[in-house]
Amino acid sequence: MSYAETQEATKNLLLSHAGSRFPVPVVEIANKLGVTVVSDPNYPSDRSGHIHVDDAGNSTIVVNEKHSPERKRFTIAHEIAHSYFDGDYLKLHKVIDRNGNAADASYRERERRANDFAANLLMPEEQFIQQWIALGGLEKVTDYFFVSKEAAHYRAINLGLLSA
Ligand SMILES: [Zn+2]
Repeated sequence: MSYAETQEATKNLLLSHAGSRFPVPVVEIANKLGVTVVSDPNYPSDRSGHIHVDDAGNSTIVVNEKHSPERKRFTIAHEIAHSYFDGDYLKLHKVIDRNGNAADASYRERERRANDFAANLLMPEEQFIQQWIALGGLEKVTDYFFVSKEAAHYRAINLGLLSA
């Protein structure tokens, strides 16, 4: 799936589930897709989260309780992507986390797509550029979209608003 296709899929999901409210209500979107979101206070500190499916087919996103709200929002958006795109894989393997085999091209593709999707979902291109101009740069768009500074910075570079 190309970047443009991921972007289109994200846009459709946003429109059907969240309208144009910002910050994007990621937990609400997950719930509307039938996915439960829980926060785990005992999660390994070096990991951000995962999604799993139980035998009855119920999906749960687990996020690291200790991470910042901004980071948790990105993790939830990332895991929504797995729920949305990787249903067949999830049905078979029951879980997707980031401890996959980096040498596995399909693993890298799933992770890349989930990260693209998360950035698109939280910071849609059109609105990001609009707000970047209207609000005047990184600090304020970070608040507006309720994302980490790193995520907004990376997005701004991707959209050609900042140079790398
Ligand atoms: Zn992932």
